[in-house]
Amino acid sequence: MAYVVGVTGGIGSGKTTVANLFAEKGIEVIDADVIARQVVEPGSEGLKAISEKFGASMLNDDGTLNRGALRGHVFSHPEDKEWLNGLLHPKIRQEMITQTAQAKSPYCLLVIPLLVENGLQSLCQRVLVVDVSEATQVTRTTQRDLVPEEQVKNILAAQATRQQRLEAADDVIFNENDSKPLSEQIETLHHQYLALAAQ
Ligand code: ATP
Repeated sequence: MAYVVGVTGGIGSGKTTVANLFAEKGIEVIDADVIARQVVEPGSEGLKAISEKFGASMLNDDGTLNRGALRGHVFSHPEDKEWLNGLLHPKIRQEMITQTAQAKSPYCLLVIPLLVENGLQSLCQRVLVVDVSEATQVTRTTQRDLVPEEQVKNILAAQATRQQRLEAADDVIFNENDSKPLSEQIETLHHQYLALAAQ
């Protein structure tokens, strides 16, 4: 079974940037956001259940999920949001287990933005937190997504705090502008994970 390093961090902390650097070393990266889309792709049980429960208005003309319509519906119907989470969370969790078990690299990364919020520590042997200040999260995300600061701050407020994430961390990558270069931090961790995975 593959040795799984769970990677987490708040919005705009640098999870994707960090995961790409591990991928350059041949490490397989499994991304919870990608899986969350796979479980509702056309032909999936997930999409079938959604369209049966809420009707065809949840589908685009090409048969894909109309995310905006679904988001709008569950926003105003909290009980349906619970139903939806009950449907999708077990499928996402199962798919994470399946894909990490199939990984061929000596260890793999499982990137889960809401790892701490959703208590998914049991899916990995080790938790790696990408840590930055809230100010940096806001600056980088507004620049990347061209969205107002307020919007990023609202998302930040709904996520785990920096402290909560750090408490769950086995390892931390510091990703401020003046931190040690990411490449050096990752090189050290890569060797540590190769050794742990070989045990
Ligand atoms: P999200 O959860 O919102 O998808 P993320 O945690 O995957 O974000 P990234 O997309 O990797 O974060 O990084 C956020 C932005 O910050 C990107 O535009 C990225 O290029 C930039 N960034 C990441 N790390 C650094 C760094 N060390 N220096 C400068 N910019 C950085």
